[in-house]
Amino acid sequence: MIPILMYHQIADMPAKGTPYRGLCVPAKKFRQQMTWLKRLGYRGLSMQDLLPYLEGTKQGKVFGITFDDGYVNVHDNALPVLQELGFTATTYFVAGHPGGHNHWDIEKGIPHSPLMNERQIRHWAEAGQEIGSHTLDHVHLTRLPAAEALRQIEVSKQLLEAAFGVSVTAFCYPYGDESQAVREMTRKAGYTNATLTVKGLALKEDDLLGLPRVTVSGNIGLISFLIKCLTQKEHRRRVKKGRY
Ligand SMILES: [Zn+2]
Repeated sequence: MIPILMYHQIADMPAKGTPYRGLCVPAKKFRQQMTWLKRLGYRGLSMQDLLPYLEGTKQGKVFGITFDDGYVNVHDNALPVLQELGFTATTYFVAGHPGGHNHWDIEKGIPHSPLMNERQIRHWAEAGQEIGSHTLDHVHLTRLPAAEALRQIEVSKQLLEAAFGVSVTAFCYPYGDESQAVREMTRKAGYTNATLTVKGLALKEDDLLGLPRVTVSGNIGLISFLIKCLTQKEHRRRVKKGRY
């Protein structure tokens, strides 16, 4: 059972009462979480590096690190920690909006937050970190006509590959919104893995195009964080909810 951590922003939490404020994990807390996992003998890996462990061809004390959307604060606050500890991670970029902001969140009352620009994305990749795709426009894939959903999945991959000279094999469904048909499109587009917002530890029998994750919220304490990652609590929760 492998935990794949899901982060969004690495930044101070906005004021109490702000919607979804837990999507921000303070930099100090992120550092503490990573440092403790390292002390306990675990290595944090990008999806690309984690794949052999998910497939069962490699064994070891590992966990996945993923960042959704591609915020500047991930570049500024998480990258130095990853480099210091020798960890790799995957950021899922909204490929059509480098240097933009989280425009899809604004109507929910989530504060404006800038996305990495091309220079920052290149720096992220040059530091040994992985570029994954989160579609072109952060869309609800199952609500689109099939041709448009396919375009969002395929063209985002092509754009990122052309701009940064890397192979893009990791995908994340925006809002966790997916279906069997969407998974098939993702597979056919050439992605080898894709993550969900379903909570749980990844199991050997999981579809690599439908991997659950461990949500890390800004207000979680260290002990609860370690319990989520290293015990079967999240797994039992997933079984109870029948999410397979
Ligand atoms: Zn997202």
